[in-house]
Amino acid sequence: MQVYADNAATTKISDAALRAMMPCFETYYGNPSSLHTVGQEAKEVLEDARARVAKCLGCEPREIYFTSGGSEADNQAILSAARLGQRKGKMHIISTAFEHHAVLHTLQKLEKEGFSVTYLDVTQNHNITAQQVKDALREDTCLVTVMFANNEIGSILPIAEIGAICKEAGIPFHTDAVQAVGHLAIDVKAMNIDMLSLSAHKFHGPKGVGALYCRRGFPLTNVIDGGAQERGKRAGTENLPGICGMVAALEEACTNLEANTAKITALRDKLIAGLSQIPHCDLNGDRVNRLPGNVSFCFEGIEGEALLLMLDMKGICASSGSACTSGSLDPSHVLLAIGRVHDVAHGSLRLSLSEYNTDEEIDHILTVVPQVVQTLRNMSPVWRDLMTGKREFIL
Ligand SMILES: *Cc1c(COP(=O)(O)O)cnc(C)c1O
Repeated sequence: MQVYADNAATTKISDAALRAMMPCFETYYGNPSSLHTVGQEAKEVLEDARARVAKCLGCEPREIYFTSGGSEADNQAILSAARLGQRKGKMHIISTAFEHHAVLHTLQKLEKEGFSVTYLDVTQNHNITAQQVKDALREDTCLVTVMFANNEIGSILPIAEIGAICKEAGIPFHTDAVQAVGHLAIDVKAMNIDMLSLSAHKFHGPKGVGALYCRRGFPLTNVIDGGAQERGKRAGTENLPGICGMVAALEEACTNLEANTAKITALRDKLIAGLSQIPHCDLNGDRVNRLPGNVSFCFEGIEGEALLLMLDMKGICASSGSACTSGSLDPSHVLLAIGRVHDVAHGSLRLSLSEYNTDEEIDHILTVVPQVVQTLRNMSPVWRDLMTGKREFIL
């Protein structure tokens, strides 16, 4: 049995999304900037796609800018707010300690330029409160950038409340909603969001395409210079096949949102209940406000990397923290941010589900993971020290 449980890293493209891409290769292959018929037909497809994305988010078509994915949208949103702030002498940014690297690394670059960043603490409930944002606001705050939902541990942040606070204070609010779009109900106007990043491959769309929603009137700064595409704010010939695949996947996800949420949540809760039976483990992430598909645990006395390899041999594709973090020896910044000590953070496992997973697959995971954890613990010198009392259990 092959079980794909790494949907927070990327998802399988849906049939509808794949089918929607084909006409862009065969018929609508023109350059939307070309004045001839073939180009203008492609332009029509592009603008239709923009309107459909806007409808799913509750905004106007001209507030949607297509990008190469979530990372680019995050970079552009943050840099735009930073440049505007700089022009007004406001150089303070509020974010959280468990953002995606696309946000964190952009903020670190700005810190080197002289910006100061407040990273909100996420140890309480593995989440933040809107009050924390309110308390961190300063006269010189030029941006609040807070993710909609965390990619490693699944916590869903109080975005509507934060939006209301930012609106009242007149401070631009960006949210990295890459894990939320297609999985949670979103209305950018009702939630007072000024900028929002999304990425197609996290909701069964193609890779390498995403979008930035930017409230009308907010001045965007280019991160890619060149032609006048995307109303002059993002140069480069549009990735029309990707965009059409993304729209099809987004509409499918929004149409089936309730049914998918019910199904995936049930699978998630069964998995969490079963894995909680393993001794000396703890669930990562907010227990209540949690993405339907996220299961994240720390198991004491094992190495997450070894666990992943052994699960892979048993046909289970999972992840240990973020895919971007593996390949480095440092434990995930997210697990450290929620207060896990290094040893515990190293023993992490993330299983992220989609509507394509089945109850039989959950049963398979629940058979295999406890066995593999025990096998690894039996081989671990750390586990021996824990069992003989030479070292104290943390979990
Ligand atoms: C995947 C992800 C990104 C990056 O999106 P790409 O389209 O892969 O660049 C950014 N933020 C979060 C929360 C993500 O999960």
